[in-house]
Amino acid sequence: MQEKILQDNTDVMIKTLAKLVEIRSEKADPEPGKPFGPGPYEALEAFIEEAARLGFRTGRSDGYAAWLEFGPEDKDMVGAVCHLDVVPAQGWEDAYQFEVQDNRLIGRGSMDDKGPAVAVLYAMKELMDEVESGQRPNPASRIRLILGADEESGSQCMAHYVKHEEIPLAAFTADADFPVIHGEKGLLTFTLHYAGPAAEAKAGALANVEAGTRSNVIPGEAVFSIYNEQLDLEKKEILGKMGHASMPQLAENAIQKGLVQCFEKNPGDPFLAEFMDIIGADYSGEKLGIAGADDLSGPLTSNLGIIHYEAQNGQGKGEFVINVRYPVTWAFDSIKEKLERKLKGSHFSLESIYYTEPLYVPEEDSLVSILMDAYKRVTGRSEKPLVIGGGTYARSIPNTLAFGPCFPEDENLCHQKGEYITMETLCQAKAIYKEALWDLAQSYGNKE
Ligand SMILES: [Zn+2]
Repeated sequence: MQEKILQDNTDVMIKTLAKLVEIRSEKADPEPGKPFGPGPYEALEAFIEEAARLGFRTGRSDGYAAWLEFGPEDKDMVGAVCHLDVVPAQGWEDAYQFEVQDNRLIGRGSMDDKGPAVAVLYAMKELMDEVESGQRPNPASRIRLILGADEESGSQCMAHYVKHEEIPLAAFTADADFPVIHGEKGLLTFTLHYAGPAAEAKAGALANVEAGTRSNVIPGEAVFSIYNEQLDLEKKEILGKMGHASMPQLAENAIQKGLVQCFEKNPGDPFLAEFMDIIGADYSGEKLGIAGADDLSGPLTSNLGIIHYEAQNGQGKGEFVINVRYPVTWAFDSIKEKLERKLKGSHFSLESIYYTEPLYVPEEDSLVSILMDAYKRVTGRSEKPLVIGGGTYARSIPNTLAFGPCFPEDENLCHQKGEYITMETLCQAKAIYKEALWDLAQSYGNKE
């Protein structure tokens, strides 16, 4: 089966992916008609032009998103959702020079999410060809691929699409893991503001720290300014292990590590003592007073992603940006209440709270079972559907769940240097998506 899959359209998929990877579709300042800057816009245009050339009907949504589809125009619509923007290359010089090494297709966006978009495109192309040649009947629904240009920085693209364009009856987003992800934890980001007593300037005392880039990234390094014997400031770099905020057990937070070390040397610093009481080295939410778990999605996690802190004349001032992933059965209000209870009487206060409710679709739901069936049929595998701590487009567009393309054994270098997708994963994903799209079209199209 593997060889058969590899023959079909593999070369054209690689060529299409190469062209897309070479478009630097990082978010930039808006320009007229290009709300996320020129790169994401150019990627949308290139994709839609290719789709039109392959014979699809196409549409554009004001530079925010675009779509392509086939199937009877008077029928309802099912489909898939992918994104064409990428996270910055950050120290990876060759990120936009697409390269094939053995079976690896290397370049920024190859796995997240241009490769999967190409897999869906060619899954649809094969279905369309098979309908035209009479190997398949006309589908009972239109089949559409929706493309967004701002998934990595807030999914404004999908908010725009949902407001102005047609919503699928059922869809998957090809931007996470196989098999189906039927639950995503709640996302909560807030800032703790500190204004209170701190250590006086003396040897070994903490003067300031600025570290972290994003709340959802576990910082791998942090630079602390510490007073030396002459009361000059000395920089001290603390190394941890960078990671994704949803998986703190795989990383080590350099900000937290450094502050704990400072406390051990300066237990009399009132700021550090309070920090230890409220955050410390903890990522379970226990110190914040919000720890817990449910059977469906496991434990809450928290990450101190960004810090700005400064002490002067015995007074400390700081901001601490924290990203929390909470269990799917929990409500935001109860977490906020617990946080406020914990902070009462401290010098920390709660500011700028953003949250997204959890997503949960039971395993018995027909969308879950159709996607699971396609996965099992093509691969012969039998993993259970997943619940994750990360967030995908599934929260931004109704009737949608995340589905592939990463297999459980795949190395996943999304957002990292050396990002790649293997030819096997690309081709297997295409084969699974082809089955899934057809089954969704037939099942939902015949429901009425
Ligand atoms: Zn993605």
